[in-house]
Amino acid sequence: MRLLVIEDENALSDVIKAAFIDEKFEVDLAEDGETGYLLGSSGIYDAVILDGMLPKMDGYDVLNRWRREEMHTPVLMLTARSELEDKLKGLGLGADDYLTKPFDMEELVARIRVITRRQGAVRIDSLEFGDLRLNLDSGMIQNKENDDEVRLGKKEFQLLELFMRNQGQTLRREQIAEKLWGYDCESEYNNVEVYISFTRRKLKYIGSTVSIKAVRGIGYRLERIND
Ligand code: CA
Repeated sequence: MRLLVIEDENALSDVIKAAFIDEKFEVDLAEDGETGYLLGSSGIYDAVILDGMLPKMDGYDVLNRWRREEMHTPVLMLTARSELEDKLKGLGLGADDYLTKPFDMEELVARIRVITRRQGAVRIDSLEFGDLRLNLDSGMIQNKENDDEVRLGKKEFQLLELFMRNQGQTLRREQIAEKLWGYDCESEYNNVEVYISFTRRKLKYIGSTVSIKAVRGIGYRLERIND
């Protein structure tokens, strides 16, 4: 899960970041509305925590723009006051939830878990392609034909999940790097190839006929080797 926190109080965003890293989230921070809007528009986040009062562009404007642009990432708004008007404004603009400051960190974590699960009506616990099954809870891949399985490292898992959720699509290297390392990831581009080669090795290890194929000049695609 990748979370974007748009909050100008650094002390607060640092605490939020630490709490979600403990929960195995990847967390990116933005200190003003404009930066947060641009980061969130990339569509790489599973949820956004958005403060109402922000420099450059306030949280309500950020949310309003996203929803008008059909950007549907779940958003939890933080409101400074407990005024009903603020809450209604946020919900009216398409916020999925809100919390009034000050709030309990455990409460925030729980609420984010709820809004990220709500995405899509059915919660799925595995993804399949060809003879390959990726278990989303255990992080194991399994060959359905022979039951061989192996555990993926964190980045290998994120990589394969991305491919299995975008079956039939060729993913650009930049797209993959953004999903795995976040928006500001230029120095990470070379790592994409490294993790692809790790993941290929594990697919081979369980005898799967699925592999990650390089599409010259474009990126990578999941394919069945003998097709
Ligand atoms: Ca603020």
